[in-house]
Amino acid sequence: MTKPTPKTDFTKLAGLAAQYSRDALLITDENVRMIWVNQEFERLTGFSFEEIEGRTPGEVLRGPATDPETIAEIEEALANRRAIDTEVEYYRKDGSSIWMEFRINPIFDAQGRHIHFMSSSRDLTGRRALEASTREASENEQLRQQERRLLGQVSEWLYSAKSLEELLQVIARSLETLIPEAEGQLYIYSNSRDTLDLNINWGGGKDGPSHIQPDDCWALRRGRAYSFGMRPIEFPCGHAHAAETDDPYFCIPITAHGQTNGLLHLDFGAVAPDRNNRAPFRTFMDQRWELALLCAEQISLAIANVQLRQELLDQSVRDPLTNLWNRRWFLEAAQQQLTRARTAKESCSLISIDVDNFKKFNDLHGHDAGDLVLRALGARMIEFFTDHCAPCRLGGEEFIVLCSGLTEDETAQMSEQFRLHVADIVIKYSGTDLPPVTVSAGIAVAPQGGIDLDALVKHADLALYQAKKLGRNQVVAYSSMQSQPQDQAIASAPRPA
Ligand code: GH3
Ligand code: MG
Ligand code: MG
Repeated sequence: MTKPTPKTDFTKLAGLAAQYSRDALLITDENVRMIWVNQEFERLTGFSFEEIEGRTPGEVLRGPATDPETIAEIEEALANRRAIDTEVEYYRKDGSSIWMEFRINPIFDAQGRHIHFMSSSRDLTGRRALEASTREASENEQLRQQERRLLGQVSEWLYSAKSLEELLQVIARSLETLIPEAEGQLYIYSNSRDTLDLNINWGGGKDGPSHIQPDDCWALRRGRAYSFGMRPIEFPCGHAHAAETDDPYFCIPITAHGQTNGLLHLDFGAVAPDRNNRAPFRTFMDQRWELALLCAEQISLAIANVQLRQELLDQSVRDPLTNLWNRRWFLEAAQQQLTRARTAKESCSLISIDVDNFKKFNDLHGHDAGDLVLRALGARMIEFFTDHCAPCRLGGEEFIVLCSGLTEDETAQMSEQFRLHVADIVIKYSGTDLPPVTVSAGIAVAPQGGIDLDALVKHADLALYQAKKLGRNQVVAYSSMQSQPQDQAIASAPRPA
């Protein structure tokens, strides 16, 4: 550093130092009216000195977000001719906001009279923004952690659900808690796989359609999650409410082991944040998107889990040829129904059904054709015996229907209708129609005083045997045999094969 010569003009040098300082400097008169600013002040605020000369810094720089309390503190310091260090949000000439950290000093003359204020300030905008984004990031991180914790708890619940009904309740409650801003629906493919059925919805407000076609949903058509309402060019799904309103929504396929089982639909119409405020809206939706994908993954696995459990259970109680309940299921369900019949005075009746001359049918048309007939009979039984009736295949070509809450007349009428219905079944085999088969049926109703299951089954079988004896293709009620003299003979007859 060169030593200044004795001729150096320090006043001029100090002036230059002030002019070129990296701090924004300004000097006012005793009434806070600006009489000088340096280059940095002009650069920082965008005002040239000519534009602001004679005005107070406050009236030039204050704006809508300027904190009135800080202004009051500054004014109080100025009024008392005290120095002050503070930070305040001011505004540039172009209207953009600027955080300034500054110090104001009162300047006194040799006689101690107050003559000026001098202020030096620095731009804090960068630091403030950094602080704000760090704060936001840490708040977001806390939120994410909380969501992860909740998701952990949720997946535990999801995996402990034993049935689909239970699982659906868990899904609805969980999503209501994890993504409270969205109304949601869960659709699951129907057995025929041509539509998806609404299984549960949550979040109040709008109900989704009760069925949707796979082609109506972009997510299902394209085989990946779809979000609507965040891009300039996009197309709404046919099934979504947002088609009319432009509300943002997500459609997320529920898949497991490479197969799509359903669809999770989340609609943010009712509670979405201010969409005109692009940046926060985008951040909000991005976060919900990530979370929704995580939830869908858990839900997918849980649904596959429950479906597998259901399949295994079904396999143990269903007859594989006809898909009717098997003997094991029948014995258990009939026992329970008989107990209920005793205690709740609710009737319990059985229809024992056997195909007529089936041995001959097999001999004439082959065992495969016989199987086809049994399968068709099973399908018709599932269609025909619905409410209060459970059709079962006990083995071979012997069926039994367990009915609850029906009188003997009602059971007899239904059996007769089914017998007539069987004659209409037309089955094609190797390009030709097989001749129709007929069935005989015997019915028995649990008596008032109660009865054990073996005895009730035996009554139904005796009635069936009587139907065969009377010429087949007819229905006989056990009660109608009671008055007949050959009762004893029938009771001791062997069970029909
Ligand atoms: P009925 O009218 O007296 O009942 O005469 P039926 O010939 O049907 O006599 P029965 O009930 O004793 O005959 C049972 C026959 O059913 C024996 C067997 O050929 C046939 N059958 C049993 N189970 C099956 C099966 O799973 N598939 C096929 N195709 N036939 C079966
Ligand atoms: Mg038979
Ligand atoms: Mg038989």
